Amino acid sequence: MTTRRHLIKIIPALPLAGLAGTAGLLAACGKKEASVAPAAAPPASPPPQVVATTPEPAAPATPSPPAAPPGATAGLSLMDEKDPSAAALGYVNDATKADKAKYPKYADGQNCSNCALYQGAAGSAQGGCPLYPGKNVAAVAWCSAYAKKAA
Ligand code: SF4
Repeated sequence: MTTRRHLIKIIPALPLAGLAGTAGLLAACGKKEASVAPAAAPPASPPPQVVATTPEPAAPATPSPPAAPPGATAGLSLMDEKDPSAAALGYVNDATKADKAKYPKYADGQNCSNCALYQGAAGSAQGGCPLYPGKNVAAVAWCSAYAKKAA
């Protein structure tokens, strides 16, 4: 049986076995030699935990105000019959008051609401007309540029 005392006695007698041999002997006695034994690596930290995330539900779209119909000119003022551009075309806010002598092509029933150029929505009281940008024309108005809307 090898005891520590016995090892101490025999170590000087051993041929030069090197530190590894000495360390091995000391290890056999239950001693550790820190300079020889590799330090135990610290336990590896666990890999970062991947947390499954459920995608956030998309935020509901902010309701936008309904788009204005094409040609809608809300907020524009009604065309003034005395405006030079209106007078040049014989525009009147009431088609029945069109100057029939000056504009013989006028016929009863013609008005902006059934003119191809009228941009107001069906049934609207007034709407845009490309001849008078920035203004509305009355649905019941008329001017000499009237062109019957296709049925
Ligand atoms: Fe009315 Fe047509 Fe004259 Fe425009 S072009 S003012 S819509 S009649």
